[in-house]
Amino acid sequence: MNKSSTVRTRMAPSPTGEIHVGSMAMLLKNYAYAKKYSGKFILRIEDTDQTREVPGAVSRILKTIKAYGLTWDEGPDIGGPYAPYIQSKRLSLYRERAEQLVAQDKAFYCFCTREQLEKVRAEQIANKQQPKYVGTCRQLSSQEVANRLADKHPAVIRLKVPKEEVITFRDLIRGTITVSGADVDDQVLLKTDGFPTYHLAVVVDDHAMQISHILRGEEWISSTPKHVLLYNAFGWRPPVFAHIPIFLNPNGKGKMSKRKGEVSAQSFLDQGFLPESLLNFFMILGWSHPEQKEVLTLTEYIEHFDPADISPNSVAFDIVKLRWLNGVYIRALSTTELLERLKPFIPPDCPLELVKKLLPLVQERLVTLSDFEQYTDFFYRPISVDQTRLCKKATPELVKEQLKITTSSLTAIATWDEQAIETVVRNLQEQHNWNKSQYFMLLRLAVSGQTATPPLFSMIEVLGKKRTLERLSLL
Ligand code: GLU
Repeated sequence: MNKSSTVRTRMAPSPTGEIHVGSMAMLLKNYAYAKKYSGKFILRIEDTDQTREVPGAVSRILKTIKAYGLTWDEGPDIGGPYAPYIQSKRLSLYRERAEQLVAQDKAFYCFCTREQLEKVRAEQIANKQQPKYVGTCRQLSSQEVANRLADKHPAVIRLKVPKEEVITFRDLIRGTITVSGADVDDQVLLKTDGFPTYHLAVVVDDHAMQISHILRGEEWISSTPKHVLLYNAFGWRPPVFAHIPIFLNPNGKGKMSKRKGEVSAQSFLDQGFLPESLLNFFMILGWSHPEQKEVLTLTEYIEHFDPADISPNSVAFDIVKLRWLNGVYIRALSTTELLERLKPFIPPDCPLELVKKLLPLVQERLVTLSDFEQYTDFFYRPISVDQTRLCKKATPELVKEQLKITTSSLTAIATWDEQAIETVVRNLQEQHNWNKSQYFMLLRLAVSGQTATPPLFSMIEVLGKKRTLERLSLL
């Protein structure tokens, strides 16, 4: 890539719901590529299919992208030199372009009704042919077209695909792709309601907005010949394409989909994954750093990322790796920063003063921010202790005695701190020659109800004298 030409990339989500985690990964690539070449990253909302639009989706998409820490240089909320960046506000542009193609005999009005089209389609399927428009209205005389339009016959505009043409485009990941015009349908450009189809709108806008590179999901690869034909028809130079493999489900089978769990980008933040670890995860799925580094900053990624190095094979959304990365990022946070990030995950019954004391105890173990509750609830909620577990490694009599002696020794502590607690407990164990692992586990279980907890003595300190003694004496 020549550093002097302006790189302009874009992400063009449709407001049909939450932004998919795969789309966020795609957005990151477009963002990084623009930043790498000091270019611009554009956000455009593609809302021409109004039947599928979900109210409120646009603002939620914008909010989620920002929550991931990514920004755009031009977009629906901030405008830019090619505003508006919402397709439903650009309708006249698409109509003009479609009519321009009709005037140049590169597109045509089609009056076929839904019933007619469906009948042909059913026949084609029955004959094991690929369903395609058969060209009924391609040859209508201009007089006939004018009459029907004057009679207000509903019409769409279709591209007059040059069937003899060979369409070629270069994909940064897959090399040169060639398709015969005969295999491309006379796609609809403008619908009867005057709205453009995705194909027309995407090409008109990518051209108008001077997009230089399109990095998008591989599911669009079959649309690209249609787009290239449109670029050719308009006499415009197409951008560079890279069709990126989509994520597979964590088990490596099938496209990552809602049926197998949450897939919205927002849902991962809500589960307590940090945006920076999610971004890092997207970076290394299907692409590797030249030194195979797995923990990368955005700056390092921008420096090294090249779409040509992306593997053409689909990769599984490796949740185990994501959890590992998230733990790495959580451990690297300062206590103040961790406290800030944790705020939405702090249960209402856990006082903030206690949270501050708990953080150093659990930071090492947190895999997601939402783990905080399960690792700490015994500090501020009543516990239940499984009696049979208490006596698993000792007789009930011994356990009773151990608890009684410990309670009275701990009661005598004047300054309740980790060190004083440790001294008392260790002395008791040595003095009575109790089995260390049995005794320590007994105390752990007795005060927390759990077998895996933060370190015993610091945990008892934070739990406080009153609560600890209550729990020990209640058993
Ligand atoms: N609006 C399309 C989508 O929702 C954009 C596809 C493209 O990037 O061209 O994904």
